[in-house]
Amino acid sequence: MSQALNAIRSRIAAAALAAGRAADAVQLVAVSKLQPWEHIAPVFDAGQRVFGENRVQEAKERWTPLRDQIELRLIGPLQTNKARDAVAFFDVIETLDREKLARVLADEVQAQGRAPRLHVQVNTGQEPQKAGVTPAEADAFIAACRGPYGLTIEGLMCIPPADEDPAPHFRMLADIAARNGLDKLSMGMSDDFETAVAYGATSVRVGSALFGTR
Ligand SMILES: *Cc1c(COP(=O)(O)O)cnc(C)c1O
Repeated sequence: MSQALNAIRSRIAAAALAAGRAADAVQLVAVSKLQPWEHIAPVFDAGQRVFGENRVQEAKERWTPLRDQIELRLIGPLQTNKARDAVAFFDVIETLDREKLARVLADEVQAQGRAPRLHVQVNTGQEPQKAGVTPAEADAFIAACRGPYGLTIEGLMCIPPADEDPAPHFRMLADIAARNGLDKLSMGMSDDFETAVAYGATSVRVGSALFGTR
């Protein structure tokens, strides 16, 4: 049993119901980056099976022994020289954010015959230090991924600026998704996942509220 896991699951379900959505409409992605195994084990043992990691190498070290038992999502920036490993190891890559990466991922999907589900990351706050396409570029980038690169895009991901009300960012991501026919929205973290659920998140990425501070 994990009290933290139960508490987060209850809060997600309550937020979904409050938004007029089904209690199980939102998937919890447990962000295990930088956590010692003794923090992860109770959550895994309690049945959590979807995990998010920031780095390819760290994810491989942590999850290789249990890889076939979980769904694993890459939520950190991906360098093109790690694309081969990422395509081989992850079920979902949430951080597709530039044409060069789209091209390399398309090549790897071809070469490996394995296609992780893909989300495009949108830098809704247009922060220079943050990855993601700008909101203005998003439609054209999604079209390029689908067209020239032949990639299937499942959804969008964003990380709102830390010091702003996240709601307008979540709404913007939902709008971009709707006009591009995308139905998956990865948004919301420990401090704002309930707001994200209210704006249509289909998955929330929760780390410290689940495992403790990193
Ligand atoms: C670390 C991280 C999270 C989890 O953040 P918490 O505030 O610990 O819940 C979610 N998304 C991304 C992209 C992250 O890098």
